[in-house]
Amino acid sequence: MSKGCVYLVGAGPGDPGLITVRGIEVLSLADVVVYDYLVSTRLLQHAPPEAERIYVGKQAAQHTLRQNEIDKLLVEKALTGAIVVRLKGGDPFVFGRGGEEALAVVEAGIDFEVVPGVTAGIAAAAYAGIPVTHRGLSSNLGLITGHETPDKPGSDLDFEALAKWKGTLVFYMGVSNLEPICKNLIDHGLDGQIPAAIVRCGTTSHQRVVTGTVKSLPQVARDAKITPPALIIIGKVVQLRDKLKWFDSRPLLHRRVVVTRARTQASTLSKQLEQLGADVVEMPAIRIAPPEDDKPMREAVANLKDFDWIVFTSANAVDAFFEVLEQANLDSRALSGSAICSIGPITSQRLASNGIRSDAQPEKFLGSEIAQAIESVGGINGKKILTPRADIAPRDLVDDLEARGAIVTQVVAYRTEPDCSGADVVTELLADNQLHWITFTSSSTVKNFFGVIPPEKVRDSSVRLASIGPVTSRTLQEFSFTPDIEASTHTIDGLVSAILQLEKTDGDAP
Ligand code: SAH
Repeated sequence: MSKGCVYLVGAGPGDPGLITVRGIEVLSLADVVVYDYLVSTRLLQHAPPEAERIYVGKQAAQHTLRQNEIDKLLVEKALTGAIVVRLKGGDPFVFGRGGEEALAVVEAGIDFEVVPGVTAGIAAAAYAGIPVTHRGLSSNLGLITGHETPDKPGSDLDFEALAKWKGTLVFYMGVSNLEPICKNLIDHGLDGQIPAAIVRCGTTSHQRVVTGTVKSLPQVARDAKITPPALIIIGKVVQLRDKLKWFDSRPLLHRRVVVTRARTQASTLSKQLEQLGADVVEMPAIRIAPPEDDKPMREAVANLKDFDWIVFTSANAVDAFFEVLEQANLDSRALSGSAICSIGPITSQRLASNGIRSDAQPEKFLGSEIAQAIESVGGINGKKILTPRADIAPRDLVDDLEARGAIVTQVVAYRTEPDCSGADVVTELLADNQLHWITFTSSSTVKNFFGVIPPEKVRDSSVRLASIGPVTSRTLQEFSFTPDIEASTHTIDGLVSAILQLEKTDGDAP
């Protein structure tokens, strides 16, 4: 068997957007991913679904023993021929023990590559509005372990030299030693009035920043109950935060939101929420699968000339349709004889990316509006209409079209299946009352969510429910829930605005 290889990859400081392009590229090749607790689990979705995901450890106290085990694990996995991605927080060679892992791999004669990452010291400072160097304020930067203090036997830290440092000092792993660090710096001659900050969980929705001076910081941090992971930043550059802070004003900061769409569709909503500062927990609840019997779809595609209209009611239907088209060795020209109706902007976008512009799109994103939209483009009576849909799509659309005299062929383009991955995390967060919102973007997400999460778990917590529109809200009512908000425009944008609106109202309340 051929020998595998190991990629030591920096996952960045927490915000999943801060991994490198090369990092994503090698993740997509992984057979095995070995990851730490500071790594955003959102990044794991870039690994192939069948890749083995191994979580290694949390507790700093157990590091010595664990490190040997991790080194051994990397070597063992690579020797089976696997492509191993070792995903580490920040940069693998900055206090990440990546060097030790690389040595173990080299000694075993295994090929390896390092993919550097954005280190927390620089990124968390940037998200706090602190440039680590600045003309006239700081012309050098020290990255220091705060794990060691001078009283610790064998410590290499030279506080005399650090106290003379004219630039910026960034201490990693220093929260529990904050007091001796600041005291030693002052005792060795550093001006106690130099500005200082602590950034906890930098670059994430949970980011917290407290500032003071080298003298006051230990007390300030104690009062604010700062716990790891956090960085201590010391230097005049900290004062720039007053003018340069930017991340702190995101409206959904410190809000944890569940996104319940199928994993492949989740990204638009998740990205928007993250951009607004939320911590997104993706719980797909459903997975898109091919129909059990694909013959009706294949037949419909083979006879497209028979249809005056093709009605697409979701982007998934568009994907499924074009896949069958491709399998039949056809392309978008096969649709040239039919008019196209799309239910809304996302579906239209997906059509456009396949080279098709829709002829009709209803004003409201409801199935019942479609008949009206088609009617207004040259009449509907006697028209032959094909609609490729989900196996569980409600019949209203077909009824509405037929009521106006259309001859409708509905075929199953795809199925939705329950997907339990992520349910454990959500159940745990609900039990700890750590969730602020659950978003529902269709009736099936409601049904599938409550297929894997007992409704009483939701009722027992103070989480809020957000619904994309009346049909979804009705399904919530079947489970005896009234959504806290219902979007007035039934789109992802509409849903996000409705959440923001309520958060703003809360914020404005006395
Ligand atoms: N290799 C990592 C550092 C690992 S050491 C890197 O390059 O960033 C772990 C320490 O990093 C933590 O104790 C904390 O001091 C710091 N750290 C990591 N992520 C952080 C974050 N998002 N916010 C603040 N500090 C962080």
